[in-house]
Amino acid sequence: MPCDYAALAVSGVQGLTPYVPGKPIEELERELGVTDALKLASNENPLGASPKAREAVLASLDELASYPDGNGLALKSVLARRLDLQVDQITLGNGSNEILELVARAYLGPGREAVFPAHAFAIYPLVTRAVGAESRVTAVNPPGHAQPYGCDLDALLAGINERTRVVFLANPNNPTGTWLEHDEVRRLLEAVPASVLVVLDEAYVEYAEVPGYGPALDLLARFPNLIVTRTFSKVYGLAALRIGYSVSNPQVAEILNRVRQPFNTNTLAQAAAVAALDDREHVGASVRMNTAGLEQLGTAFDARGLAHIPSAANFISVDVGRDADIVYQALLREGVIVRPIANYGLPRHLRITVGREQDNARVVAALDRVLGR
Ligand SMILES: *Cc1c(COP(=O)(O)O)cnc(C)c1O
Repeated sequence: MPCDYAALAVSGVQGLTPYVPGKPIEELERELGVTDALKLASNENPLGASPKAREAVLASLDELASYPDGNGLALKSVLARRLDLQVDQITLGNGSNEILELVARAYLGPGREAVFPAHAFAIYPLVTRAVGAESRVTAVNPPGHAQPYGCDLDALLAGINERTRVVFLANPNNPTGTWLEHDEVRRLLEAVPASVLVVLDEAYVEYAEVPGYGPALDLLARFPNLIVTRTFSKVYGLAALRIGYSVSNPQVAEILNRVRQPFNTNTLAQAAAVAALDDREHVGASVRMNTAGLEQLGTAFDARGLAHIPSAANFISVDVGRDADIVYQALLREGVIVRPIANYGLPRHLRITVGREQDNARVVAALDRVLGR
């Protein structure tokens, strides 16, 4: 080759390591010859999408030759009504991951910093570095804390300096499942300078039934630097369609709108999202099943003396007491895919998505065999 094309990339991109997704079922079945594999690795809804969303996708198939509505007005209108907000506060994204990237492109860059706690969602450092900005990673709660590995608010605030433009915080957080109570989120916003955007990633908001937790939408009116992101990939079961959104003050939304692609969300996704919002029964059943599943898994881990991080989301991270990658590999041979999270700084933990009752029982039984209990 006449050139080193890796060296030609902009320096932020040279420093990137690609995001590693959960192993697809088909890949496992091909590699290890197992059948009937169970994937509890990507926090997908075990009940699937709402039947109403499915119907909406089918009904959209006649529109495949036309460009989508680039403004996604139908979906934004439903969201605005549902959330009691204005349409011009909403930005749609190709998954909420895209929103995180739009924020980075619009507000980060060389000489600027993003602040987030250790064990935060992997996309935050990725989008930060890609645009040439620096990540400042702050300390988390110690092991004996009620929420070990969870966000230490004072440490996060101490990480903010004159170069900080963005704070990223998932609430609840992935991969720990830890959360901040609504009062703490308010305290965070009261302490952060107005010139620093606070991205509150509520990908798992619907699942969070823990005391003191509350969505941050009611704080938007008071804090113009707040950006709340949400997704249809988790409780709504539409991960394949790539659709999410943010709510912010209209000026921030207008800036994000400048950097997005004109048709970043597609017709099928928009239609499915509108229908999914209408199916409260499906969301309710999904949340109830998840709450029971968290209890089921937590009780099983307790009975085996396996420490686990308290979770308000649809997954639970458990300390397997040894190199978790070896346990992960052994579980694959049992036909069960979970997520090793050494790349999140948790080399002895596995993150397990809450499944149906029989799925949870299967992962626990497989873990017993692998751990030799
Ligand atoms: C899954 C997840 C998302 C959602 O990603 P999409 O791009 O909407 O599929 C966002 N933030 C966190 C913390 C997540 O775990």
